[in-house]
Amino acid sequence: MIAEIVEGWYNLLTKKHPAIQFMVKRRYESCKDCPFRKGIAGVTDMCGKCGCHLKAKLHSYQSSCPINKWSKVDCIIEGDSVQLKENNIIIYNNAEF
Ligand code: SF4
Repeated sequence: MIAEIVEGWYNLLTKKHPAIQFMVKRRYESCKDCPFRKGIAGVTDMCGKCGCHLKAKLHSYQSSCPINKWSKVDCIIEGDSVQLKENNIIIYNNAEF
């Protein structure tokens, strides 16, 4: 859990790689209308199910949705190639772009 939080915040604050942006956008499609999504004081976007800061959670490869709307992602980097897999299915491959 601590590793997920640290990784999510690190990626949120430092990494703007298209693969991460793709993963965040894909996950956000599930979160944006989720009944468990909530704001705190109208400022902070949270997952009300697990209590995590939503934007940081979306940026962590290791995180998963507590109601199984999205899963952890494996990131495979080989040279300049970046591939993302969710449940062993390729969801992003920079060689395709
Ligand atoms: S992580 Fe899951 S439970 Fe939390 S807001 Fe997103 S879709 Fe809802």
